[in-house]
Amino acid sequence: MIRRDVPLKDYSNYKIGGPAAYFLEVSTREELLQGLKEWQGISSSFPKDKKNIFVLGKGTNILISDKGFNGLIIHNNIPGIERRGEDLVIGSGVLVSQILSYCIENQLSGFEWAGGLPGTVGGAVRGNAGAFSGETKDNVKEVTSLNLDTLEEKKRAKLECLFDYRFSFFKSEQGKNEIILSVVLSLKNGDKETIRNSIQEKIDYRNAKHPMEYPNIGSTFKNVKVEAVPENWKKELTQYIKNDPFPVIPSAKLLFLANVKGKRIGNAQISEKHPNFIVNLGNAASNDVKALIAFAKAAVLEKFGIELEEEIMYLGSA
Ligand SMILES: Cc1cc2nc3c(=O)[nH]c(=O)nc-3n(C[C@H](O)[C@H](O)[C@H](O)COP(=O)(O)OP(=O)(O)OC[C@H]3O[C@@H](n4cnc5c(N)ncnc54)[C@H](O)[C@@H]3O)c2cc1C
Repeated sequence: MIRRDVPLKDYSNYKIGGPAAYFLEVSTREELLQGLKEWQGISSSFPKDKKNIFVLGKGTNILISDKGFNGLIIHNNIPGIERRGEDLVIGSGVLVSQILSYCIENQLSGFEWAGGLPGTVGGAVRGNAGAFSGETKDNVKEVTSLNLDTLEEKKRAKLECLFDYRFSFFKSEQGKNEIILSVVLSLKNGDKETIRNSIQEKIDYRNAKHPMEYPNIGSTFKNVKVEAVPENWKKELTQYIKNDPFPVIPSAKLLFLANVKGKRIGNAQISEKHPNFIVNLGNAASNDVKALIAFAKAAVLEKFGIELEEEIMYLGSA
């Protein structure tokens, strides 16, 4: 089941990334277990740093190094949406857009905030993805995951998932070795047209504001909690506060005011349309993006004394 030297740029929304030394595509729990058994055989004589495993969803939030990944990539395609009353039991490889279509067809409300959110529900749970004052945690009832070392499966209720701003247990040191298998989302009955319109509004907003014409991986930096703004800038920046879903200063505004919009390194560019997006103009190198990230951080630190923190993830070194 495991393939060798698979180009990861084909699995990245950024179209950036070198080869995975080992690559496993899974659509069921059984395939996953079978693949992990094969991996144990392959990697038994490997040094520790080559035994690494990384779970990939739709690659909409990851900057993959041009040097690739020297370990096993598990590409998760676990499907399935099953209705249980007002709850949905969903395979972790299901796209958020597929869930939204299901919600429209089945008149289920509460997940509309995710309109236009790319990627899988597994990825959304892990990073507690959020937009338009909603967060994945608002809908999660339960998450089932598998520990990739012990192969132990565990169900966690929402509280045990330790959700926080763009964070969950599955992003923690303790939880990062677990692959999310399925998610139960809690919804409520609603009106089909109202649900459809609310989702479409968000998609239209994103299409208008985000540089969708270029490959990208969404917002580069997390928004900045108001408490993190130095006293001398608080008064001026207060006018830009938005709820995310708590009060934040949008990083896009800080980047705009720091005048980094449009900066280009190689074939990567800080978007003219939305400065929190770094776009791939065509065959950009991972190091071009990294250099722009460093440039943007330095500019915001110098102007406001604020340290931006990446929302995107890195895979592979350099
Ligand atoms: C145009 C655009 C707009 C975006 N807008 C938003 C936004 O509004 N709000 C927001 O929060 N994000 C946004 N994002 C980022 C991204 O869409 C989300 O973070 C998304 O939830 C990632 O899902 P994915 O399947 O692509 O995950 P990937 O990018 O493949 O992976 C992200 C992380 O999740 C882990 N992961 C993925 N699947 C699993 C699993 N089954 N089990 C365990 N770990 C897993 C990966 O190991 C990785 O660490 C945007 C991205 C783009 C390109």
